[in-house]
Amino acid sequence: MDSCDVLIVGGGPAGSSCAWKLRASGLDVAILDKRAFPRDKVCGGWITPAVLDELEIDSVEYARGRVFQPITGFRTSRMGGPEVETDYGSPISFGIRRCEFDDYLLKRCGARVFEEWPLASLERSGDDWIVNGQIKARLVVGAGGHFCPVARFMGANARAEIAVAAQEAEFEMNSAQRQACSIRGEIPELYFCSDMRGYGWCFRKQNFLNIGLGRLDEHALPKHVASFLEFLKSKGKIGFDLPSSILGHAYLLYGKTKRNPVGDGILLIGDAAGLAYSQSGEGIRPAIESGLLAAKTIVDAEGNYSRARTETYRTLLESRFGESGKDWATSIARYLPSRAISFLGRLVLTSRWFSRHVVLDRWFLHRNEPALRFESRAAFSQVLAGTAAASR
Ligand SMILES: Cc1cc2nc3c(=O)[nH]c(=O)nc-3n(C[C@H](O)[C@H](O)[C@H](O)COP(=O)(O)OP(=O)(O)OC[C@H]3O[C@@H](n4cnc5c(N)ncnc54)[C@H](O)[C@@H]3O)c2cc1C
Repeated sequence: MDSCDVLIVGGGPAGSSCAWKLRASGLDVAILDKRAFPRDKVCGGWITPAVLDELEIDSVEYARGRVFQPITGFRTSRMGGPEVETDYGSPISFGIRRCEFDDYLLKRCGARVFEEWPLASLERSGDDWIVNGQIKARLVVGAGGHFCPVARFMGANARAEIAVAAQEAEFEMNSAQRQACSIRGEIPELYFCSDMRGYGWCFRKQNFLNIGLGRLDEHALPKHVASFLEFLKSKGKIGFDLPSSILGHAYLLYGKTKRNPVGDGILLIGDAAGLAYSQSGEGIRPAIESGLLAAKTIVDAEGNYSRARTETYRTLLESRFGESGKDWATSIARYLPSRAISFLGRLVLTSRWFSRHVVLDRWFLHRNEPALRFESRAAFSQVLAGTAAASR
């Protein structure tokens, strides 16, 4: 039987970030993933600078041979309404391809990686876990995304939860398609649905185009996606039919799940814990941050992985992401009829001030929340304290 200190199920951004931090502390870490890498993941592939900072990614080195699109602003609108362009004049985000980004993170994390190894069984043996009858681990981290089998083991029922449902297509444009695409790489476009329950996006990443739409209600998603694509063509944003199929996936927004992230000898991170930001649906940064916070909890626990000892992880998540379900936009939306929300959406999305300072700075870029860094205990506490204050 193989053995390790920590076994991570899932080699996406959450799992590889957690492993990277744990390896720096000298722990023996293994990652299982059901897929072979490089693998793709349904995603827009938009990341914020904090992600590079937190993972100490050298962007020049990363960009060598990989798609890395600096983004200096966004064009935002209520679909079909006037568009507001906000340009910050320097990069405030980046476009990456998940097949490249996730593979890069996994390869450099320093853990032993078992690819094409789906989690089949998880059994307790004293203080240890026996995984697939073959690997013994003191602690298991569930990083398997929305349908994570470790989250299911902890009682999560993904099919019964209210999730964001999103679809996207990503493809490399040929020269005719590049000519017929008016989207600029440095200014992606976001189009909010008229009922404000979701938005569509167009991201041009060098020669690649990523088009998608996500909504809080999944039942009419294909209809919304079809009319979004028609809209893009009618406005001359793209003058061709999508050459690749649209793929869908679901995930949970922070504050809208009852998933328990802490068990005896178990922690959940990333989409497995349901942590994506509620207004933008950005899930990569919370996945990475939760991986780093879980790693900190594990190192601080010094080998005692009882639930009582690792409960601090829950506190760290709340300090970082705010009290669950307490953001003001969600609270207001809960009390307003849908017509009023639609009217307000139309009004505020034409405002340059609102588009920049609320939609982009707060909801999409989280510019008031510094990157999570661990240089010293004091610096770390300061960042967490600052985040809690910013999210109130
Ligand atoms: C259409 C769409 C667009 C999005 N766009 C963006 C965006 O532009 N920016 C952004 O920040 N977020 C975006 N998100 C959200 C983002 O993709 C997720 O929040 C993020 O991938 C979560 O990372 P993770 O590591 O938790 O999970 P994942 O990236 O899902 O990784 C989970 C890993 O676990 C593995 N796994 C699953 N089951 C098992 C098993 N049984 N055994 C072993 N391994 C298993 C999988 O193969 C996978 O490699 C988008 C989501 C969707 C659906």
